Parts: sequence; structure tokens; C-alpha cells
Amino acid sequence: MPTAGPIARLRELVSVTSAEPALLKAQYRAFAGQLPLMYVVLAANTWLLASTHIGHAPAWLTVAVPVLLTMAAAARCTHWYRRRGKGAPDAAEAQRALRWTGRLALAMALAFTLWALALYPYGDAWTRSHVAFYLATTSLVILLCMMHVRPAMLSVALVFNGGFVLFFALTGQATFVAMAAAMATMTLVFIYTLLRQYRRFTDLVGERLRAERLGAENLRLANLDSLTRLPNRRAFFTALSRACERADQRRTRLAVGIIDLDGFKPINDLHGHAAGDRLLKQVGKRLAQLADAHVHLARLGGDEFAMIAEDLGDDEAYVAFARQVCARLREPFQLQDLSLHVTATMGLVLYPDLAGHAEDLYERADYALYHGKREHRGGVSLFSADHHRRIQHEAAIEQALRNADLEAQLTVAFQPIMCVASGAPLAFEALARWCHPKLGQVPPADFIPVAERTGLVHRVTRILLAKALAEAVHWPEAVGLSFNLSMHDLGSAEDLSGLLELIRASGVHPARIDMEITETAILNDTAQMQRAAGLLRGLGCGVSLDDFGTGFSSLSQLLALPLTKIKIDRRFVTGIQDKPTSMKIVRSLLALSRDMELGCVIEGVETADELAVLQELGGNLMQGYLFARPMPPEAVAGWLRHSLPALAARP
Ligand code: C2E
Ligand code: CA
Ligand code: CA
Repeated sequence: MPTAGPIARLRELVSVTSAEPALLKAQYRAFAGQLPLMYVVLAANTWLLASTHIGHAPAWLTVAVPVLLTMAAAARCTHWYRRRGKGAPDAAEAQRALRWTGRLALAMALAFTLWALALYPYGDAWTRSHVAFYLATTSLVILLCMMHVRPAMLSVALVFNGGFVLFFALTGQATFVAMAAAMATMTLVFIYTLLRQYRRFTDLVGERLRAERLGAENLRLANLDSLTRLPNRRAFFTALSRACERADQRRTRLAVGIIDLDGFKPINDLHGHAAGDRLLKQVGKRLAQLADAHVHLARLGGDEFAMIAEDLGDDEAYVAFARQVCARLREPFQLQDLSLHVTATMGLVLYPDLAGHAEDLYERADYALYHGKREHRGGVSLFSADHHRRIQHEAAIEQALRNADLEAQLTVAFQPIMCVASGAPLAFEALARWCHPKLGQVPPADFIPVAERTGLVHRVTRILLAKALAEAVHWPEAVGLSFNLSMHDLGSAEDLSGLLELIRASGVHPARIDMEITETAILNDTAQMQRAAGLLRGLGCGVSLDDFGTGFSSLSQLLALPLTKIKIDRRFVTGIQDKPTSMKIVRSLLALSRDMELGCVIEGVETADELAVLQELGGNLMQGYLFARPMPPEAVAGWLRHSLPALAARP
């Protein structure tokens, strides 16, 4: 508000400003609380003054007018009392009420003053003093009660107190003139104090308002991802529980999707974090464009995003929309001079069909994502009844794994890796076997992932490695041991050092040992895998890249690792004689391994036809049911005896 001239300043002083709704409401609240009290005091004082004048003044002045005034006061009093129960009005209503109050207060003050002054001529000195006392005390009470409405307060002061001072000053009677002077000073002091008090009140309201705004802004920021400006994890879970409540109430469906970018880590590693951040920002932007009243999109962290979709129609519509989201993210991203392609995999779950509780939703979508990442990257993986069964099966496995006597129940089976040219075994791959008293034989593909998820894999690996080494130490020096490591075994230097210690203590020369690491492990944390592979090589062990061709690693990532072998996955081998594409892939992988001076093991050779083609393509190291199935440790010696001639003939 400009405070240019004295007129403007005066206008500001006496106007009910509409600039600040919060102030208006606060004024209203403070004021409404005090008004009934004011009217009670006013009525009581009025009757006390009337009582001392009965007999002196005419009855219409001592009874009729006080009755009228009391009725008016009572009406206002009940009005305010009722308003108090109704709760806070809105700003406009508060402003209207305050304006009216200003006018009414003026009218009332005028009425009471005029009445008191009308009594003045009738009595003696005592009653006149009472009139003066009445006017003085009443005015101070009114000023006090009106302090939160500045214009009302000032007009009351002017009429009530001004009237008092003028009237008694004009009586010429010394006592009254003195009283008028006292009243004038007191009024000035009172107004000064009350105005200061009012200023403090507005400051306080302003401060509270600022604090509230800051709080609201903090809340907004707390729910916002700072990089992408999308709602964050916390906001997502809040939105999710609200959406579930809505769906429950209206008996509608909704879908929850967890989106994970494929191959984001390599981009981060290759082009730096700044580029990674820029990419995430653009992903956020694209997702934000897809959000509307029915679709909530958030960033959960890292390269993980999430979606809540409501009211899209039938199940197909939800899946179609999810596909649309993935398709949108498949379009190339332009980062300055860099054009980047990423794909996004989404795990999708529909509520309430396949997730009875809101709490299940996130976990199930995440589960579907996990399988989508393995089975069809870059697409939508819908949580299915099969997933549900798998979850239950995994829960049973987890339960059993936690309570099992693993030392006794875990064993290793050995499958030879053949050197086809010589017909001799190069090594045995150790394969985990778990026989649980209730669950029976649990395949490693089922329990290893559960052990990884639950952190039990370290124990499992140690037991298996110790058992495998204890067998290998009895084999001929020329036969090696190939052992599968989970990426969790390589997660830290401490995890690895325990395993290295086992090898050192085993009596098996490290040069006879190959450690197999899967391509997915390398993809997950290239830098750590590089360190781990370096440590293994340092000890003298070989490092094989398992399941080659199933992941999405780039050549540069693989070249960064100190590998000694690659193992071509079974999927390129099965029925290769009828699959020209598989043939091409295997041929180029063999060429690649030759160029990189790496050994190349071809896995899963089951038939003579496959073998013939693979030999034709130049393959020599092979593994598969055609040569031998995985066998228990006690069968190895016999099997070896059988292939001893070939072993002896090997250069
Ligand atoms: P993998 O490392 O690729 O192991 C080869 C799997 O293929 C073994 O299955 C083996 O029995 C099977 N296999 C070998 N030749 C043939 C064939 O000609 N045809 C077919 N159809 N299959 C063949 P297994 O023993 O069930 O192991 C499955 C997976 O579990 C392994 O795949 C490996 O990823 C994991 N695994 C096994 N043992 C361990 C272990 O001790 N530690 C860790 N971390 N993972 C293990
Ligand atoms: Ca393997
Ligand atoms: Ca393999």
C-alpha cells in the first residue's frame, strides 16, 4: 500500500483492506471472539447508569431507551455468538462482516453516547459524575474490544471519546474540564498502544502466513524429484494409496506400472553422469507429457519410474497405454550432439484382479518388471497368474532356504567341458544341487535367485565352492574346475576375499580354476565386475563370461574385462542346423573370441547334428548332454577313467 500523502495514510488507517485474505480472516476471528463480551459489558453499564437516574430523569430515558439499547445489544451479541459456532467465513464474507461492523459500531456508539448525554441535565453532581464515568469506562472497553478492526476502533474513539471530551470541556465545570483533559490524554495513549498492538497483530498474521506458504512450498518440494520435476517416490506412494481408495470406493480398476530403462548404466558409464542426468531429464519430460487426470507418473529413483493409471477402460486399454509409454521412450533422445537410444521395460499389474491389496501392487509390478527384464526387454510385462504362482513357490523356497541345513543339503554336480578335437575333458563345471527334505530337488535356477535376493547366496557359494574344490583336488592336474559365481559374490572386495582364501587353502592350483560370471552381472555393475575379475586374474584364476549373447552388453564393456573365456549360450545352439541366424551368430562369436584370444565354450550341445555344424563353424570346446549330463561327484572318477586315453593323448 503506498503511503504517499497524509490523506492516503488516513484512508489506509480507516479502511478495511481487502489485500490480504488471511489477515481479514484473522481479524474476523479475533474480533468475533470479543464482541459478545463487549455487548454484555455495554448493556450492564447502561443499566447501572439508568438505575442511578430513575426518579431524576423521565421514564422513557431511564427505562424505554435502555430497553431498546439492550435489545439492540442483545441482537448483536447473539448474532456474533451464533457466527462463532459456524466456523471461519471466507475472505470476502469476513470483509463484508468487518465493514458492517465498523458502521454498526459507529451507530451504536453514537446511540449510547447520545443517550448518556441526554441523561446529563437531569441529575445532581453525583449522577453527572456517573454519566462521565459511564462514558469513560464504556469507551475504553469498546476500544479494547475493537482493537482488531482498526477503522471501527478509530471511529468509535472519535465519536465516543471525542464526544466525551468536547461535551465535558464545554461544561466549563472545573472537575469535568479536568476529566475531559484526562480522557483526551488517556484516549491518545490508548489509541497509540492499541495501534501498536494492531501492527504486531498484522505482523504476526503475516509471519504465520509466510510460514504456512513456506511449509506448503517445502511440502511441494518434498514430493518432487529435483532432477526431473516429476512427483517423487514419496508422492507416488501417497498417490497410490489414494488411487486404491478411490478404486475400492467406486469399484473401478487401476493399473500400476514400474518402468526401468534398459541399458541406462552403460550410457552413464560411457558418456558420464552429466549425460545420464540429461537423459533422465528428457525421459521425465516425455513422461510428464503423458500424465493427465487419469495417469500419474513419478520417478522412483535412479532410472526407475512409475505409473498409476485409472479409468482407462478394460484391461487391454491399460496394457495398450503401457505399451504406448514404452514406445514413447524408445524414440531417440537428442542430447546436444549425442543421439541416444534407450528402451524401457515396464512391469504392469492390474488392481484389484491380481493384487488384492494396495501394498501388493508395487511389489507385484516390480516382480513383473524383474521378469520382463529377463524375458522381453523393452516391452510391457503384465503380472500374471503364473507370476503369482512363482511368487508363492519362491516364498516357499525362501522359507526352506532360511531354515535348511545347507551344509548337509547342498551338493555339487559336475558336467565336463569337452575339448572335441582330442575327446578329452578340459574341465568340469560345478553345478549346484539342493535336495530339500520337503521340497525335493530344487533346481539352481529356482533357488539361486532367491538366495541372491535374500542375501543367503554368500553362504551358498562358500559351501558349494568348498565342496567343489574338495573334489577337484583329487582330479588329474590337466582337468580344471569351472565354478559359477553370482554377481552378489563379487559385490565387494570382502565378499570376494573369502572365496579367494578358500581357493588358496584348497590345494587346487588357481590356474586350474575358471570363475564364470554372467553377462547380466557385468551389465549391472561394470566397474565392480572389472575390479573383481582383476582380483581373480591376479590370483591366477581364469574368468569366463557365461551365457554370452543373452545380455545386452556392448563390445567395449566386454573388452574392459580381463576375460579368459566366453561361453556361448544354449539358445544359439539348440537346433542350430536349421537356424541360419544362430549359425551366423555362433560363427561371428567364434571369430570374435579368436580375435580377442579368448577360449570359447559352446554350451548345451545335445545332438550329433548340432555337434557337426558347430565343428564345421570351428568350435572346439563344448559342453552338453551329448557328452555327459551333470554327474554326482562320486561318478566323476569312473567317467574320467573312461576318457583317460584321450586325456593322456592331449598335447
Ligand atoms: P549355467 O551356468 O548356464 O549352467 C548350465 C546349465 O545348463 C546347467 O543347468 C546344466 O545342467 C544345463 N545343461 C548342460 N548341458 C545341457 C544340455 O545339453 N541341454 C540342456 N537343456 N541343458 C544343459 P543347471 O544345473 O540347472 O543350472 C542352471 C543355472 O543355475 C546355471 O546355468 C547357473 O546359471 C546357475 N547355477 C548352477 N549352479 C550354480 C552355482 O553353483 N552358483 C551359481 N551362482 N549359479 C549356479
Ligand atoms: Ca555356467
Ligand atoms: Ca551358461
